[in-house]
Amino acid sequence: MENTSTAVRAVGTAKHIALIAHDNMKKGLIEWCAEHAQELSRHFLCGTGTTARLVAEKTGLPVKAYLSGPLGGDQQIGARTAEGHIDIIIFFSDPLTAQPHDPDVKALLRIAQVYDIPIANNRATADYIISSPLFGESYSHQPHIFIKK
Ligand code: PGA
Repeated sequence: MENTSTAVRAVGTAKHIALIAHDNMKKGLIEWCAEHAQELSRHFLCGTGTTARLVAEKTGLPVKAYLSGPLGGDQQIGARTAEGHIDIIIFFSDPLTAQPHDPDVKALLRIAQVYDIPIANNRATADYIISSPLFGESYSHQPHIFIKK
């Protein structure tokens, strides 16, 4: 397996954080972002189209918007993750509703796992991540795929 990325990922103190929420979960993610707005303002935020727009509108935080999830936004965020441009993903997915873009969601979860990216699928996990001392510190890690056997 060939990869031109450096094996060790060095993540700075300001993280690149992707925000995604399925429709039934958007309210919860907006509330979570509002609750942590001060901490989040120290980082670079992006998200799928509708989520990004709503979080920006409701919290005043700048959030770069990709395409809407069902139109390819999850895939864009997956590509940015594979390229090393996303450090943390907060993805409030809906466990009770079928999604037309389920293959894209699954692909994003997989790519996050491949690149050893912290990904929160619910509020408690997001709380644990944001309250970790590592959230505001630099951090280096080596995704398993880069460890030479
Ligand atoms: P949205 O996409 O933020 O554009 O609604 C989220 C998703 O369903 O993946």
